[in-house]
Amino acid sequence: MKVDIVIVGAGLSGATAARILAEKGYKVLIIERLKHIAGHCYDYKNEFGISIHKYGPHIFHTNDKETWDFVNKFSKFRYYQHRVLSYVEGNYVPFPVNRTTLSRIFGLKPYSTDVKKILQQEIDRSNYIKPPLNFRDAVVSQMGEKLYSLFYKNYTIKQWQTHPENISADLAKRIPIRENDDNRYFADKYQGIPLYGYTKLVESILDHENISILLGQDYFEIKEELKSDILIYTGELDRYFNYKYGKLEYRSLDLKIETYEKEYFQQAAVINYPNDYDWTRITEFKYFLDEKSSKTSVCFEYPKASGEPYYIVMTKENIQKRDLYLQEVKRCEEMDNVFFIGRLAEYRYYNMDQVIKAAVDKVNKNILSK
Ligand code: UDP
Repeated sequence: MKVDIVIVGAGLSGATAARILAEKGYKVLIIERLKHIAGHCYDYKNEFGISIHKYGPHIFHTNDKETWDFVNKFSKFRYYQHRVLSYVEGNYVPFPVNRTTLSRIFGLKPYSTDVKKILQQEIDRSNYIKPPLNFRDAVVSQMGEKLYSLFYKNYTIKQWQTHPENISADLAKRIPIRENDDNRYFADKYQGIPLYGYTKLVESILDHENISILLGQDYFEIKEELKSDILIYTGELDRYFNYKYGKLEYRSLDLKIETYEKEYFQQAAVINYPNDYDWTRITEFKYFLDEKSSKTSVCFEYPKASGEPYYIVMTKENIQKRDLYLQEVKRCEEMDNVFFIGRLAEYRYYNMDQVIKAAVDKVNKNILSK
């Protein structure tokens, strides 16, 4: 079979790349291992009319207008600003830590809480290495040991199954600390949920006469039979190179979905449980699209080592190994017309908007400009 371009993976990165190339007149074939499109942002409506994010909660947020304009070409978005509570010492408090959180934890009057002063006192009585070289020290350097222990330490151990000292300081960049009462999880300029779901969004991105899709097919089983001028790979980085530098770690999740005979289960779309229970968080899906139902469906997340690869693991060993693979990637992209895009193929903790931007940039700068 001959096509211009083969893309491995029908997630956001594969779909975005496919669309741009299809619009330029290339014939694109997508090979997808799963039996559905949209990768890990796949969602579906259950029998109670509630949209379930099969692989865990996805909230679209970006500061990049081009990326926002791109997704809005393919779907309407519902106005939605994500808010998360953390269950700490028997109370539900805003997370990321903000002024309200601090007043609750330290028993202070909400509006007279001087965040800067409290954080500085907490930091001053804590031990950490400057500049911070790991996740534990990065968080402690911003809020001190007490808050780190309440909100981050045990959540991180549950999520990554390793001590926060073994995780890169870069992980701390995902979560801000707020001096005001802003209780949104993200502060990005553009935020929302695709009105008809992520699967429909991706379906619409892929809806082009130059794109064909083969679902439920592992690329590696048929790669010898495929001929194309260009290959775009969005699967696991180490697998492409037959693990020549050793296996990279990926984390997975057991997502236990339960439906309850009541209108609402909890007070927020997501509640984090850093210290209690074995799950990290519970998501109540109906909040995302404000879906009305007399029942409600929620999802408990239990992190695990094996299974569908959801997360890269930011330890020193993995990052070093990744860098070896990335040298091979560079060579493939320059010499062989094989390009790597996305969370799994670049081994980067990308958000959805970053995946789209990475795909747009790679196609425009590395493929179309050749
Ligand atoms: N984290 C934490 N406590 C929380 C939320 C997050 O310690 O209540 C840490 C944890 O290590 C987590 C990381 O911050 O894996 C990133 O959190 P985020 O909410 O961005 O994770 P995602 O939504 O990608 O699962």
